[in-house]
Amino acid sequence: MSAGGEARSVREIGEFGLIAALRAALPAAVAEGPALAVGIGDDAAVWRPTAGEALVVTADGLVEGVHFRLDPGWTDWRSLGHKALAVNLSDLAAMGAVARLATVTLGLRGTERVADLTALYAGVGALAERAGVLIAGGDIVASPAALGIHVTAIGETRGGRVLRRAGAQPGDVVAVSGTLGASAAGLRLLQDGAAGPRGGAATASALIDAHLRPEPRLALGGMLLAGGATAAMDLSDGLLGDLPKLLAASGTGARLDAAALPVAAAVRALFPDEWLELATRGGEDYELLFTVPPEAFAALRRDADEFGATLTAIGEIAEWRAEEPVLVMRGLGGVEAPVRAGAFDHFR
Ligand SMILES: [Mg+2]
Repeated sequence: MSAGGEARSVREIGEFGLIAALRAALPAAVAEGPALAVGIGDDAAVWRPTAGEALVVTADGLVEGVHFRLDPGWTDWRSLGHKALAVNLSDLAAMGAVARLATVTLGLRGTERVADLTALYAGVGALAERAGVLIAGGDIVASPAALGIHVTAIGETRGGRVLRRAGAQPGDVVAVSGTLGASAAGLRLLQDGAAGPRGGAATASALIDAHLRPEPRLALGGMLLAGGATAAMDLSDGLLGDLPKLLAASGTGARLDAAALPVAAAVRALFPDEWLELATRGGEDYELLFTVPPEAFAALRRDADEFGATLTAIGEIAEWRAEEPVLVMRGLGGVEAPVRAGAFDHFR
């Protein structure tokens, strides 16, 4: 395709021209591989899974105006492609699965520039290549009201095993990877705009990056499975939205310590009155929340350390009885109180 063609719109280049351009935007190692007998371009892909393993399947979509905006200064197309795949790989990471392949369905108005969509695919492709994931195909559909990027990702079990939300035991450590609240802080900075009160902060771009380019913790998920974690999930809806789901699945309660939460200094500094809210209810951290017996946690933390990842204990799993609060948090003042489970509700 000529360079001049890149300036054309989807409508001008047509569906088949677009598919060719998108495929060309993927690294070779992502569009083809020994396990992919038939890739992009046929009616369906044919892929050979590893003998003896079960498949782990997840789907997650990003919709314009709901999950991202295309206004200037918001996201770039490459980051959008990265994120659409990252949120899916994060679900596979939370299961302790090995990510293998993904399909991408684009809902388009038709007025999009081909160059923007190949940039989106370059973002998908770069993460896929790093994660060892094949892009096996997808679909392109008309979506007149809003752009949509819908990904289905497939992984494999490790030795037939996965990590689930159910399995936490009283006495287990509750822990998270990385830090909490950076993505929500970045979203606030985007909403405020560059002219906002914190727009000029030196740390603003790192926080915005945390929102636009989350890193799926795939290797860590495997480490948690091998290291004896009893339950896990990824943090998409905020700690106090997601932890209650893990507790409900496990039939347990938990005690958290607000002072132990790993919150980046930049988040505390830019949001001195709101950092705890951002860290507990902000959402889109895409870190792993997990439970593990105390004796296994120390070894896991050392392994993660060597690997360059941080794990932080933030509380403990407790027995739960009907009528009792499921979740109690010791506040920054040292007083323990029941916490309202606050899930991010997609329809509210
Ligand atoms: Mg999830």
